[in-house]
Amino acid sequence: MPIESFNPYTGRVERRFRAFSWAKTERILTQAHRAFAEWRTTDFAHRARLMHRAAELLRERQDELARLMAVEMGKPIADGRAEAVKCALCCDYYAEHAEQFLADEEIKTDAQRSFIAHEPIGVVLAVMPWNFPFWQVVRFAAPALMAGNVGLLKHASNVPQCALALEQIFHDAGFPPATFRTLLIGSDLVEKLIEDDRVRAVTLTGSEPAGAAVAATAGRQIKKTVLELGGSDAFIVLADADLEVAAKTAAQARMINAGQSCIAAKRFIIEKPVLKEFISKMKTHLLAFRPGDPLDESTQYGPLARPDLADELTQQVEDSVRQGAKVELYGGQSKPGTALFRPMMLSHVKPGQRAYSEEFFGPVAIILEARDADDAIRLANDSRFGLGGSIWTADARRGQELARRVEAGAVFVNSLVKSAPEMPFGGIKKSGYGRELSHLGIREFVNQKSIWVA
Ligand code: NAP
Repeated sequence: MPIESFNPYTGRVERRFRAFSWAKTERILTQAHRAFAEWRTTDFAHRARLMHRAAELLRERQDELARLMAVEMGKPIADGRAEAVKCALCCDYYAEHAEQFLADEEIKTDAQRSFIAHEPIGVVLAVMPWNFPFWQVVRFAAPALMAGNVGLLKHASNVPQCALALEQIFHDAGFPPATFRTLLIGSDLVEKLIEDDRVRAVTLTGSEPAGAAVAATAGRQIKKTVLELGGSDAFIVLADADLEVAAKTAAQARMINAGQSCIAAKRFIIEKPVLKEFISKMKTHLLAFRPGDPLDESTQYGPLARPDLADELTQQVEDSVRQGAKVELYGGQSKPGTALFRPMMLSHVKPGQRAYSEEFFGPVAIILEARDADDAIRLANDSRFGLGGSIWTADARRGQELARRVEAGAVFVNSLVKSAPEMPFGGIKKSGYGRELSHLGIREFVNQKSIWVA
């Protein structure tokens, strides 16, 4: 993939970048490795001051950052601002809590003293996707830098300006330049980087094939990985749910980022008695979303990030319909090779259809009919993925019991799935492993060292 800003709304290439050579990449790695020796000795108060400053810069530059997201991957400008502000929250959160999360943990033994120390490990490579080009990176970078690690970012090839803007923010905040660097490289250099001893661990957010490739290389090198991969989250609506609120939230949950979110609700599993009414209500809410130019303040969803992604989604829909799914709501692309994709809804979805088993990374709602709550859980779990899920019911206690039975990293009762700095985030099954955010996220890339004093 060329490293370029291709505007999916105008269809124009805004800027092209020359990919870094291996020699340049290796030079930056050398600098990062050297910077680690110094950075790890800094105290939490110092790191926190810089991290709070990064948060301020994210807030101050939110218009500029939102514009970059709009032109590089089609995110509506208002959503881009919200993303920048959420990143600032994450920086503040780790600035405030990192020291406590990584404090020595006393363990009672027969030693004079025994405890766990949490020490940084060195250079961590982050391979990141384009869909939340700032958030995905910050949720890695804020805990990594606060823990005393240094970060190298290989961002998706279609968001180079976002990647550079983030590097600039950390540098302007006062972090030594080599502690956080953006590498403008294609995925071809990732393997070589992981094979270098100075890279100590890798985190990847993206697709299953990318995760498998990176984890295989890291595995050969005995290096830890955290993988945040795809999802096909279930949105379960029981017959006693408040249907109006559930249907409205369902439409929002499917339309997040024009449907291009790992935790967007993708499979709507509805108890039979309320199926018809739910479909009708959700359709109304889906149709109310306003498409348009991402730079326009009133736009609610823009184009998909690239025309080829829209082509692929169209193919998934067409194959599913050929396999027996029914189109409940017509939308999709106006013609092949264009990135705008209007919301669609498919019903009569059954095993053997692509819509049943694959992730649909765009605004296509997949409707599944459940006989009862047990059947709904069975359908929810009949998926290779296990990222998130939500359950809608008037009985919150029953909702919690059912939540325990959903095979996923997170389940929300009477709410859409969302991420927040305080709550661990990550998946099971083919959605990956490891956790980001919260106290668990910052402990993924530290040496949890046992110290025993006899
Ligand atoms: P992608 O194609 O896997 O790309 C993600 C990153 O991996 C990009 O930087 C990409 O670089 C790189 N990459 C791709 N193939 C690679 C390989 N063989 N070796 C090393 N690096 C490689 O994913 P995407 O299309 O950007 O994102 C969509 C997917 O990500 C969806 O499945 C979505 O559910 C998932 N996702 C998951 C989460 C989560 O938190 N669980 C969050 C967001 C998205 P290039 O751009 O240069 O190819």
